[in-house]
Amino acid sequence: MTRYTVFGNPIAHSLSPLIHQQFAQQSQHNNVEYGRSLTSVGRFRRAVSEFFRAGGNGANVTLPFKVEAFKLANQVTERARNAGAVNTLIPTVNGGLLGDNTDGQGLVNDLKRLGISVSGKRLLLLGAGGAARGILLPLLQQQPSALSLWNRRSERAQALLLAQQKQLPSVLTRVLQIADLSHPNMPPFDLIINATSASISGNALPLVADLLHSETIGYDLMYSRAATAFQQQLTELAGVVSFDGLGMLIEQAALSYAAWNSAVVPDTHELHKSLRSQL
Ligand code: NDP
Repeated sequence: MTRYTVFGNPIAHSLSPLIHQQFAQQSQHNNVEYGRSLTSVGRFRRAVSEFFRAGGNGANVTLPFKVEAFKLANQVTERARNAGAVNTLIPTVNGGLLGDNTDGQGLVNDLKRLGISVSGKRLLLLGAGGAARGILLPLLQQQPSALSLWNRRSERAQALLLAQQKQLPSVLTRVLQIADLSHPNMPPFDLIINATSASISGNALPLVADLLHSETIGYDLMYSRAATAFQQQLTELAGVVSFDGLGMLIEQAALSYAAWNSAVVPDTHELHKSLRSQL
């Protein structure tokens, strides 16, 4: 039996088991079990070590444990180090754990699937939490002409910008800047990515129509059966096209699956067609 799980809190509604079962079926991997592990801040480390000591073959980590997973991994990949967060744990031959972060590449793969190019575009990234940290470098690597960061608590956006400027070569970070949405005397953005959790509570973000043009595209990392609060806001402001993060969820899962299975990335085509009906 090959055993995977996802650690999180809450976790009951996670789609990861469904996604990974489909990847296993498609790859004709038999006897694969993918569970959900509800844990708490105080118990996370113990829960992870018990799972792997009992022979677990890999784990995903979601809210609110991604930073804790980064701290407990014995080694991390470069993209996890840049994010300071881990969403995938891979057992190593010497009994340790390798931490990876597939969120950023998952988003980039989904944007490509949707035919959305970042290269040469003016990009606005909303949020400076765990998800924003994970996607910032992969987005910079797509060479936008400008990447403006906004966060409700501006000091967190500032800290994220400074950390990236220290860590990364200036050829990547020279396009990075802080956006002041209260004085939007700047050219409109081509792509606006919402990496805040504002849509979860249905809260509107401080966006105005001047930030958009008729071809602007919106992308909300959150997903739901109906349009998210962010998508609704963009429709009301300027009627622009937008997408939610269900595609990113599938793509980041495919990269985790590859990390556990000799780098073979499963085909995600069918899931993109079928998963929405499971929401
Ligand atoms: P964090 O809790 O780490 O960060 C939350 C962020 O949202 C912070 O920037 C916070 O700002 C901001 N925020 C929260 N409420 C509001 C509000 N009412 N108005 C403005 N900003 C707000 O969460 P994550 O970064 O891990 O997750 C963010 C979102 O991304 C979630 O919706 C999550 O579900 C989604 N996600 C989707 C993935 C996918 O595969 N589709 C993968 C990972 C995440 P402040 O710093 O000021 O508090």
